[in-house]
Amino acid sequence: MSDPRDELASVAASLRAYLEWQQDTGAIGIPRKPRDQRPVAPPPALAPAPALAPAPALAPPPAPAPAPPPALAPAPAPAPAPRRTLEQVSTEASTCTKCVLATTRTNVVFSRGNPAASLCFVGEAPGADEDAQGLPFVGRAGQLLDKMIGAMGLDPAKDVYVCNIIKCRPPGNRKPEPIEIDTCIPYLHEQLAIVEPKVIVALGNTAVGALLGTKLGITKVRGHWKLYKGKTPVMPTYHPSYLIRPSAQQSEAKRQAWDDLQAVMKELGLALPAKK
Ligand code: URA
Repeated sequence: MSDPRDELASVAASLRAYLEWQQDTGAIGIPRKPRDQRPVAPPPALAPAPALAPAPALAPPPAPAPAPPPALAPAPAPAPAPRRTLEQVSTEASTCTKCVLATTRTNVVFSRGNPAASLCFVGEAPGADEDAQGLPFVGRAGQLLDKMIGAMGLDPAKDVYVCNIIKCRPPGNRKPEPIEIDTCIPYLHEQLAIVEPKVIVALGNTAVGALLGTKLGITKVRGHWKLYKGKTPVMPTYHPSYLIRPSAQQSEAKRQAWDDLQAVMKELGLALPAKK
């Protein structure tokens, strides 16, 4: 019978070898002995240690937060297109061939009156007289318009600026087509940007629709202040060519148009005529 102390020493040596092997593989963390003290012999035939789950892959250290992008200098605002003079716009319009009306017109009709005036009247398009003379509102409707301007205590040549949505006469005085309005209206926008009237009077459906982008009829919108381009007050009222038509309704329409013009006078700080 072997000495139990020898058996115990043998078990202890096996255990020690096993533990050192485990340690060698890095599986457990007991303090290492220097290599030369480690047994050269392979580990004893003990039941292999259960496979250890591989150490979880360490997440890479977080990348340093990216440096904030350098503050961008604000993009320089595009240089505003140099504003043209009225003469330059009028000169361009005088040879315009952008729409079919160029083929039938006699003259391009740009404006009349004073570009420095606070009040601007905008009509629809030239008629036969205007086409012949190259000036807006010189026919019968224009004569009534001048009377209306006179009734406001203003001089048609000095105190107002008069122009149209369309610069060339539509043949037979037909209504301008939407494409003709779209093609021509940049001239008017440029005119108004230069003249900078304090108040605009829009005469009739075409002027109201083109300036204010509404399809509402003149009877609905007349007498109500609107804004052109969000800043210039516009008073819609009846077109003088409607007011010169002989009919029972016309006297009421004339009275309403006069109400509208008095609202304009008030807006401009002009003295209202004493009520009779
Ligand atoms: N009607 C308009 O709308 N404009 C004119 O110039 C003449 C008549």
